[in-house]
Amino acid sequence: MTDRHILSSISDVSEETEFHTPMPANYKPGQCKYVVVLGTVMSGLGKGIFSSSLARVLQDKGFSVTPIKLEGYLNRDAGTLNPFRHGEVFVLDDGLECDMDLGTYERMLNQNLSRLNFVTSGQVFSRILEKERRGGYLGRDVQMIPHVTGEVKSCLRELAVASAAQVVFVEIGGTVGDVENAYLIEAVRELAFEEGPNSVCFVALTYVVKPPMLGEQKSKPAQLNLKQLMGAGIQPHIIACRAGNPVTKKVREKIAMHSSVPLDRVFSMHDVDSVYAITELLREAGIDTAVLKRLKLTEQIDAVREQKQRGVWNDYIRRYREAATPVTIGITGKYTSLRDSYASIIQALEHAGVHLGAKVRIEWIDSTELDEAGVQKRLAGVHGVIVPGGFGTRGVEGKIICVKHLREHGIPYLGLCYGFQVAVIEYARHVCGLEDAQSTEINTNCVHPVIDILPEQRDITQLGGNMRLGGHDIRVTRQSLAANLHGNPEKIRLRFRHRYEVNPDYMSQIESAGMVFSGKSQDGGIAQILELPQDVHPFFLATQAHAELTSRPLDPDPMFVGLVEAAVRFSPPPAVVDTHETRA
Ligand code: GLN
Repeated sequence: MTDRHILSSISDVSEETEFHTPMPANYKPGQCKYVVVLGTVMSGLGKGIFSSSLARVLQDKGFSVTPIKLEGYLNRDAGTLNPFRHGEVFVLDDGLECDMDLGTYERMLNQNLSRLNFVTSGQVFSRILEKERRGGYLGRDVQMIPHVTGEVKSCLRELAVASAAQVVFVEIGGTVGDVENAYLIEAVRELAFEEGPNSVCFVALTYVVKPPMLGEQKSKPAQLNLKQLMGAGIQPHIIACRAGNPVTKKVREKIAMHSSVPLDRVFSMHDVDSVYAITELLREAGIDTAVLKRLKLTEQIDAVREQKQRGVWNDYIRRYREAATPVTIGITGKYTSLRDSYASIIQALEHAGVHLGAKVRIEWIDSTELDEAGVQKRLAGVHGVIVPGGFGTRGVEGKIICVKHLREHGIPYLGLCYGFQVAVIEYARHVCGLEDAQSTEINTNCVHPVIDILPEQRDITQLGGNMRLGGHDIRVTRQSLAANLHGNPEKIRLRFRHRYEVNPDYMSQIESAGMVFSGKSQDGGIAQILELPQDVHPFFLATQAHAELTSRPLDPDPMFVGLVEAAVRFSPPPAVVDTHETRA
């Protein structure tokens, strides 16, 4: 039973009234404020980035905030979604597999989130159906309104109570007009009605098109879709217009006119060079002030705190813009055509780059196209490589060829999850002489299963939500590269999402051939970090964890910093026929 189940008592349902507003104990309508962010015209406007930046600005002003993402899809979590279709699967410390936007919120707010911060239609309907079987609605037909919308409101209020946040940021997935999210939009309309005046601020993100054949900005799609939102009973308080370039006053006037939102609350939110620059854009435009005015919170602004925090962010942006040392990091994976599949890695590289004053350029290397003959040419010019997480057979031999080349040529390497397992396979094959070394994920009958299924995973038959997931402590070996990078702690905490591990039967053989397992699970059973001694290779490090998930702009992940630092030292780019000796 989740916290939410406990909180939503079944006695909320009454035959006496049509109102169905289940509330956590001690919750009083109006005690918390809500900012609801909705998308119009099309998806992909960066609602999550916008909403998290706005939340950050309020946090800077001294307000406690927490986000919640409401997803219309029927999956219970994002664990079974293909990153190629939906972007990266982000994993929270408590093990929830969720939408990549939660990563944006964690990074922007420098806050660990939990499963209370992510709700899908699959979860909502599961709860409803379970409750119905328990007799929770006896005598009643269970309806979209008020029961399903009531469950959504419960989720929001339970988060408000559990987080004790002053302002809850609610992001509704999808676009106004979608069938899936219509009931979510209805739920927030009801929420505003029940919470009372000035408790909810509706922010509509919209898109201003600029068709090439006209060469000018047009507002019609925005107007029409905003009307549709109003037709659903929601009068936006603020409109943020996304566009490639600043939105003209004429266009903003038209949008204001058609949506009954005063012009000074119709803002231009054009593209900027870094997602972390959006907070400043919001401040300069005055969106934060407009939100706080609506919520009657202006009196509570902590101006001193804001000034300080603003300085910290602006310093980050300045360093981002001034970062000069060029460095190219290759990412060898199979989803390279959709950058969103590697969102957190891209971010973690940016954080490390800014920290070191390096301008990181990413070179996407499709592992399905790598072979022995072409690898040297393909990797020429890169100063370091990441092999990221992945599943299944396709592209894995290309990754092994890549890692072999990096190991033999002293090119900095960081392996993440699958990239860790691939490094073990490669080492077992080419250094330990175990020719048929393989992962049983790829070949269950291989002679040397150096990567094998985790014992607790053997009997699992279903595929959703049951990998080894979430944050786990890792014991690190003192004075190892991994320990040094982290400042020599006894343990570090990283997040995981895997079914396979280094087969303990092969660990000592691999270690005696020179590879060091410098991080182990708390019970010592599972190898979590590997490295090559630095007199053998300048930087060869990999982890079974997803170090990218916990990197934050002002607190970059040390392994990424280590990689970028080693890559900077590796400059200038090697010529095509470079060898380890000539570089040493
Ligand atoms: N496929 C591997 C496993 O399940 C690696 C998983 C990953 O990279 N996230 O262990």
